[in-house]
Amino acid sequence: MPTYKVSKSSSTSRRKALSLRVASLGEVAAMPCSVCAATRSLCVFSDQSTKCSECVRRGVSCDGNFSGEDFDKLSEEKARLEAARTRAIAEAASLDRRIEALKKAQGKMIAREAAALEELEREEERQAQQANVALESVFDEQQLAAFFGAPEGSDSGGGNSQVSQG
Ligand SMILES: [Zn+2]
Ligand SMILES: [Zn+2]
Repeated sequence: MPTYKVSKSSSTSRRKALSLRVASLGEVAAMPCSVCAATRSLCVFSDQSTKCSECVRRGVSCDGNFSGEDFDKLSEEKARLEAARTRAIAEAASLDRRIEALKKAQGKMIAREAAALEELEREEERQAQQANVALESVFDEQQLAAFFGAPEGSDSGGGNSQVSQG
């Protein structure tokens, strides 16, 4: 009977499709049904189906004790973990911002210290220059005394003026 064959093949492919949908949308059962336990299959159930995905695929009855409550509990747990993950991502972003702020603060501290050091170096240079100027002025006075000591002591200049006046 060809119709029987077609019908069987059709139900087989539909079982496969439904099994895949249950597997993709469902939750893994904490306690697998006896079929999944015996075949070491992943027992995935959905609150839309009374059978697990494996039993749907095999077209056998499922003795899994899946309640809507269990499904909701797992969904809640999943939502809780997703929320925790979102919080962790936000926390990581916040930590990244704080680390960046600390890096900027360190950069400013380095810039301030560099500027203060430059100012100190300029001040030291100024003081060294002032000390040089003081030494040079002392030296110049000695030089002046050496050069102009003799003319100041002699009366030759005064004698000339006295002559023109007298
Ligand atoms: Zn199962
Ligand atoms: Zn099952």
